[in-house]
Amino acid sequence: MFDAIWKRVFRVGVAVSVVMAALLVGGTGCSTAPVTGRPIFDLVDDADVTAKSKQAFAQMKASHWLSTDRAKIERLQRVGERLAEVVFWDVPDAEWEFVVFEAPGEVNAFAMAGGKVGVYSGTFDVATTDAELAVIIAHEIAHVTARHVHEKLSEGMVVEAGGVALGVASAGYGALTSAAVTSLYSMSSGVLGLSFDRSKEREADRIGLIYMARAGYAPRAAIDLWEKIDQLGSGRSAPPEWLSTHPSHADRMARLYEWLPRAEEVYRRTLAERARAAEVLTVP
Ligand SMILES: [Zn+2]
Repeated sequence: MFDAIWKRVFRVGVAVSVVMAALLVGGTGCSTAPVTGRPIFDLVDDADVTAKSKQAFAQMKASHWLSTDRAKIERLQRVGERLAEVVFWDVPDAEWEFVVFEAPGEVNAFAMAGGKVGVYSGTFDVATTDAELAVIIAHEIAHVTARHVHEKLSEGMVVEAGGVALGVASAGYGALTSAAVTSLYSMSSGVLGLSFDRSKEREADRIGLIYMARAGYAPRAAIDLWEKIDQLGSGRSAPPEWLSTHPSHADRMARLYEWLPRAEEVYRRTLAERARAAEVLTVP
């Protein structure tokens, strides 16, 4: 009896120490989110998240219906590659892959660490221009580069370590598995991506605008796209979880208009640089 209690006390101790050690050693402390400069806090090892995300993505591709629609596949490839070029320094370990999952009527997309991007085929009915598709992909990539995904996985690890402390789980001490990554992505709400808290959704919107602009897509497309998504949602009732975690439409619009001038400045600069580069190329 006492033996069992001591074992449990020991396990609680180990779990607490694992979390504390991870906070002290593994915490990335000095890193910051791109564009906003927000300090980032996560417990997970980057290389590990990338490896597990790649595994999870491979499993998703093996178990889901992939689109054979050439037009959609090529559009995603074209837009994705342009964005991948400009986010290079924020995801240096990426091996980019852009996959269209066949899911008629489903407006959803996600990005994983390691440069894995999935877009559900229904998304193309709403994002009808390349710039609108760029809004969605840039937003999802920003969730990765601003480490929202890493932070969410860290939370999962602390919870899991807590589970160990309570004797619910017996092994792992919050180890990251590709199953943990898959389950994070399967929580996706069905109306655009994973649910993060409002401040992270705002941050992804803000970073996404700058990414689009750097890739030469007019950031104003974000206004049109979110208007269309809002209209899409107005017919049906959004699940309560979605309402509680996602920014309201009015809030999102207000912020987008607030950040738009800066993004448009970046967009104009990108266009000017491209025009100069094209001139240099055409000079005989
Ligand atoms: Zn989001």
